[in-house]
Amino acid sequence: MAGVGIRERGALLLGRGAGEAVRRLGRGGGTALPGLVAGRLAPGLLEACASQLGHGLITVTGTNGKTTTSHLISAAARIAGLHPLHNRSGSNLERGVISTFVGEVDGTGTMPGAADRLGVIELDEAVWPRLLPSLRPRVAVFLNLFRDQLDRYGEVDSVAEGWQRALAAYPFLTTLVLNVDDPSVAALAEGNAAREVIGFGIEDVGVALDGAEHASDARFCVCGATYRYDAVYMGHVGVWRCDACGRARPTPVVSARNIRLGTDSTTFELVVGREVTEVTIPLAGLYSVYNALAAAAGAHALGLPLEATTRALAESGPAFGRQERFALDGRMVRVLLAKNPTGLNEVIRTLLALPDDATLLALLNDGIQDGQDVSWIYDADLERLAEREFRLIVSGDRADDLALRCAVAGLEPRMVERDIAFALNAAIAATPVGGRIEIIATYTAMMAIRGMLATRTGAQPYWESTE
Ligand SMILES: [Zn+2]
Repeated sequence: MAGVGIRERGALLLGRGAGEAVRRLGRGGGTALPGLVAGRLAPGLLEACASQLGHGLITVTGTNGKTTTSHLISAAARIAGLHPLHNRSGSNLERGVISTFVGEVDGTGTMPGAADRLGVIELDEAVWPRLLPSLRPRVAVFLNLFRDQLDRYGEVDSVAEGWQRALAAYPFLTTLVLNVDDPSVAALAEGNAAREVIGFGIEDVGVALDGAEHASDARFCVCGATYRYDAVYMGHVGVWRCDACGRARPTPVVSARNIRLGTDSTTFELVVGREVTEVTIPLAGLYSVYNALAAAAGAHALGLPLEATTRALAESGPAFGRQERFALDGRMVRVLLAKNPTGLNEVIRTLLALPDDATLLALLNDGIQDGQDVSWIYDADLERLAEREFRLIVSGDRADDLALRCAVAGLEPRMVERDIAFALNAAIAATPVGGRIEIIATYTAMMAIRGMLATRTGAQPYWESTE
């Protein structure tokens, strides 16, 4: 189909005009407004735009890792000679996705060069079922389901049920890419026998957590019994089984073996079917290995060459605000996003690999995108940081709550300061030249400090960068 109907054309013009006006006023990226305007005026616009993509579309959803995973899939597609259409960080709700497409079509609704284009769309886990009928992906990647922003979603089980219902209603989606280490995600294979399922997971018990260190969202099997674990990699993710009904973690097609976790990078053997390649990714932490595996499995499902995937994993830098590094006043500054207990636990695990002379700047906000209930910080294992001598500065809108949580954990912040810019300067002053500052931030705090770092180091604001 070339172009769209008259109603969609009018919606496009108004939507694009709104986005440009916002950008001209300098009010951020204007990423959601065109989608809001165009989506209201022409509900069929998204499907009309997405259906033009010559290589179809892949979606990426789950609680943690969406942005990094879709960033890596886009990079692999680009290396393979395709022209990916990728929504930017923070645009994974309905309006943001529509805005992404509105920005890629001309005034008649035609997407130039659509034959070479592949849609790589990250979607909020609660939004995925709603957009499935419009986007009609051929591949869907499911990363994990952790407790996140309970005030918005309710129980994680209801999210999984929403996915399963949508899958049952829309048979066109042909391939599911599932994290077999997360039992809630692996369960999606049940009832989807007609679809191709590509599982990914970690095959290295050497990186498992010690003891029964489970997060608060431990899972029950569909039969009602509690899962047992031979190894736990994070939260409820690991080598699981149910002794009552015999369900167990399937063997993954795409996996990581012999994982070596470094301070700023990770090396592992990437297994895709029968092929084994050693890769080093410029990202730290076991959660980065999961994102790399999800991307490799997604690329495999799309039929991209393995060489493109391994190059993308090795060469593409971090996604926006996810382990991005900046050189500021002679210090190395890294931004680590943490928005839920499991994510924060993984960040803490990554920090424990650092030398004691690092400065930690911890930022807690309570905006809508952060989750307005900040009690989740009590479900994360901050106590583990008390073993170390890091310099700690606490900031953000809820700095006082975070400082109290730190005190309970036996940590003593050097400073508690709500103003993030002031706290950043204090962190720089406290850190010797050549030292490192690790910023741990919730979503809106990450956006704020990332903007400050971009301004002070001359890096581009995100809406002007190509990725
Ligand atoms: Zn069971």
